[in-house]
This record gives sequence, structure tokens and C-alpha cells, in this order.
Amino acid sequence: MLSYQHAYHAGNFADIHKHLTLYAVTDYLLRKKTAITYVDTHAGRGLYPLATKETQRLQEYREGVWPLWQARRDLNSVLLNAWMEALVNAQPEADELTRYPGSPWWLSQPLREQDRLKLYELHPGEHGHLEGQALPKQAQRIYGDGLAGLRGLVPVPTPRLCALIDPSYERKTEYQEVVETVVHTMAKVRHAVVMIWYPLLPAGHHHTLLTGLEESGIRKIWRSELLLRPPNQQGHGMYGSGMLVINPPWGLDEHLAAAMAHITPLLGKESRYHAGWLVEE
Ligand code: SAM
Repeated sequence: MLSYQHAYHAGNFADIHKHLTLYAVTDYLLRKKTAITYVDTHAGRGLYPLATKETQRLQEYREGVWPLWQARRDLNSVLLNAWMEALVNAQPEADELTRYPGSPWWLSQPLREQDRLKLYELHPGEHGHLEGQALPKQAQRIYGDGLAGLRGLVPVPTPRLCALIDPSYERKTEYQEVVETVVHTMAKVRHAVVMIWYPLLPAGHHHTLLTGLEESGIRKIWRSELLLRPPNQQGHGMYGSGMLVINPPWGLDEHLAAAMAHITPLLGKESRYHAGWLVEE
């Protein structure tokens, strides 16, 4: 039984970290004409109006997209400015932030005629919301398990594959299931670009994911972490957001570091960002 609903967390600092990385990766992939299959294993609703009662309950976007939006005219990073322009274009009124787009929206933006997008969502209510979104015809919405879906899809018919794995980690076993899915995927598509999001929680369950991938034999795994506050100060709750990128595009490290140098001061005095190889070439 799934209970997680991303609407409670939409636009928080972890979404910024995840979607900015996603934006940078897909932007780079567009440099070649060859077709790409994009897979979003845990799609969510696709678009989050900030005024809904779910999003208003925790208002996590106030420690995420909101301070960035307020500072949008003073940002000075190529990546962040391009990302912000896309966010402005997602608003019905350019001067007002009323909705935050989820990964299906960010993945729909770079789609070209030759590309495909598979969006998996297992929660019937969230899938229903996703069905109601206007998305390009290359986007296919699938009501089902995204990890099993990705395993069943590979090898894909297009020359390139780019996947986002963004579970809610409601079950501790999901960390290991992600490792197994990634190992299977990389064995079938060696050059796949795979992004995996994970939460930083005091319990440290993400180490199952990191250790599992470190020991998997997969090379070129890049990691970045955005911390809202130091670990273990409050003993509970997510203090940071992690992203792994397998086969990261050239320049991703520098572009994200430049963007994060603008972002961390806006997220608060204790916010930090660090990145580097989990497993090198
Ligand atoms: N990727 C989305 C974004 O960035 O906007 C947010 C996704 S949210 C963190 C995780 C979503 O995965 C939830 O909507 C949940 O219902 C869904 N979910 C949980 N287990 C799943 C599974 N095995 N397969 C597909 N979706 C699943």
C-alpha cells in the first residue's frame, strides 16, 4: 500500500537538486541527433499547483524553489538561468510562481520527434493526476512498477537510454531493489545515463544503495549531495538530498557546482553542496 504523495514536498530543496541535475543531463544529451528513450521510473503527478492543501500543509517549497524564484533576476550561472527560464515558462503568468513542475514535465521539455518517454507510476491516484496532464505524444504513461518496467524495457530500440530513478523509499528494501535494477540495466545498455535520487536521513539507509553500487562493478558513478543542514542535529527528518549519475555528461560537475554556489546561500546559512566520483572510470 503506497502512502507517499509528492504534493506534500513539491518544490523543496531536494526537487531543486534533482531537477537541476536532470535539466543539465538532458540538455547535454541533445547535442547528438541520435534518438533517446527516457524512462522515469517513479513519475508522480507531473505538475504541482502550489496552492493545493497538500503542498500548503508543509510548504517545503519555501526552503526550496521559493527563495530561488525571489532571486531569479540576480542569478548568474548559465545552467541555473536556463533552468529558471524553463520554470518561468511553466507558469501561466510569467511573474507569479503558482506551480512547480515534476520530473515528467522536465523530461518532456527536451523531447524531439525521434525520442520516447516512458512514465511509470504505481499509485492509482497519482497516476490519475498524471493522466490529466498535457504531455507531448512521445510520452507514454504506464500504471505500474517502474523498476520492473525498466528491467523489462532494456535493451531499448533507440541508440541511447536515459533513466531517472526517484523512489519514495517507503520500504527499506527499495535501496537494494534499485541496485539490482541498475545492475541489470547497465548490463544490457552499457552507455546508459542513469540518475538515481536518494534521501539523506539520520538512519543512513542510503549506504545500502551506495555500497551496493560501489561493489557492483559499474564504473563512472558520479555523486552529488545538497545538504540543508548538518546531519544528526535534529535526529530525524531529511537533512539532505543525494543524486547519483552513471555515465555523467562532460562538464556536469562544473556546471552544477557553479549553480550550487548561487543556490546554497539562498537555502540558508547551514546549506552545503559537495560532489565527486563514487566510482571512477
Ligand atoms: N519523480 C517525481 C518528480 O521528480 O516529480 C517524484 C516522484 S515521488 C518521489 C515517488 C513516486 O513514486 C510517488 O508518486 C509514488 O506513488 C511512486 N511509486 C512508488 N513506488 C513505485 C513503483 N514501484 N513504481 C512506480 N512508481 C512508484
